[in-house]
Amino acid sequence: MAQAQPTSPPGPLAPERLGGRPPDLLSVDDAIARIEAAFAPLETYERVPILDALGRILVEDVPADVNIPPFDNSAMDGYAVRAADVAAATPDRPVTLRVLGELAAGRIAERAVGPREAYRILTGAPLPPGADAVVPYEDTDGRGFGGWTGEAGIALATAERTVRVFRGVERGDNVRYAGEDQRQGEVVVRAGALIRPAEVGVLASLGRTHVWVHRRPRVAMLSTGDEVVPIDQPLAPGKIRNANGYSLAALVRHYGGEPLDLGIAPDRPEAIRAKLLEGVERGADLLLTSGGVSLGDHDVVKLVLREEGELAFWSIDLRPGKPLAFGRFRGVPVMGLPGNPVSSMVTFELFARPAMLRLAGHRRLRKVELEATTLQPISNRSGRENFMRGIVERRLTSDGTPQWVVRLTGEQGSGILTSMLKANALVRVPKAQTRVEAGSRVRVLMLDWPPLW
Ligand code: AMP
Ligand code: MG
Repeated sequence: MAQAQPTSPPGPLAPERLGGRPPDLLSVDDAIARIEAAFAPLETYERVPILDALGRILVEDVPADVNIPPFDNSAMDGYAVRAADVAAATPDRPVTLRVLGELAAGRIAERAVGPREAYRILTGAPLPPGADAVVPYEDTDGRGFGGWTGEAGIALATAERTVRVFRGVERGDNVRYAGEDQRQGEVVVRAGALIRPAEVGVLASLGRTHVWVHRRPRVAMLSTGDEVVPIDQPLAPGKIRNANGYSLAALVRHYGGEPLDLGIAPDRPEAIRAKLLEGVERGADLLLTSGGVSLGDHDVVKLVLREEGELAFWSIDLRPGKPLAFGRFRGVPVMGLPGNPVSSMVTFELFARPAMLRLAGHRRLRKVELEATTLQPISNRSGRENFMRGIVERRLTSDGTPQWVVRLTGEQGSGILTSMLKANALVRVPKAQTRVEAGSRVRVLMLDWPPLW
């Protein structure tokens, strides 16, 4: 499969998939489920060098072109023998074998091992014909294994004419058989696999230099707000720097997408429309906006989407980040994230990330969630499900059992972006729970996994 050339974007957000009118306040889990259902993998593929495939999703089955290992070889440094010759060997009654020579990795035996004969053999060297087992050198009086290098070692080895074996082996002992890892023709890495370092190594072992993968989704970012200025410009009174343009672009890149920077648009529909159009023309698969979805901004993003596309506007039972606009512009899905720097990052993690991962062909879209014991009381007066910035750590209890514990980063205001510096997790406090006592179990969504500290 997947020898396809890049095609046009498939339009992953079918109108019927917007999911109809949501209830007034949508739960976070329902919103995530709707988003996951609304996106489908991009049907555009790329053939890339295996190292560039890291973090991406394979779209072809990769079979073994040869057996791996390709030949029977030694799993130890020792002597390749006929097991029957040495079956009765003991320290008191060793068996003496004639040494035919030495087989280092990559060397082929000149002749077969006959009765009462052996080859010195090093790990990974092909098992010589006639031999059916390897005696580790520790069970022999063989000299010069381990620790020796250079000319002296080779001189020692070539000087060796016989070896005494002190312990018997059975057929197959210390032999790695051809094809025992992978059989020729068997699919080793399947379409749909996430390419991790292990997959890269296996692909290399199969002689693959390039593989077909899903294209990286292009995610365009537009920051909205009359007060938002580029980060390299002086900060005039009343203005703020465009933090979101960067935190969101970083998230896109972090999760394997290709960020497209659309810059900043003031709170005017025609400015936003022009920027979104630019995003479409630059080939965005997903358009993200920050800001302009709350009442204070006269809902400019919503206005544009309502006029030019489709709009599902969701009020989500979530703090931080209640309003979320979700729709299409010129056929391209749009997610309008709130402008508060923490809210935009949290809503990206919760809603934009699974959409982007889906586009990239991932099947596992959710982050790891754990139960942790809170080290402090937590109060939630938001009346919504509260995703509070937390620090999760592993601790040992008095009897040595490992457990996860969590504490909050401190001030939880949605404008306090530095709370995200300290956090490695979001503590999910249900809306009905106004207070959580210290020592109780809470649900935590890990931003970093494994926890980075
Ligand atoms: P809004 O959602 O547009 O009402 O914005 C909410 C808050 O987030 C306001 O304090 C904005 O100034 C701030 N904000 C909006 N956009 C950005 C941005 N790109 N970078 C940093 N802060 C922003
Ligand atoms: Mg605004």
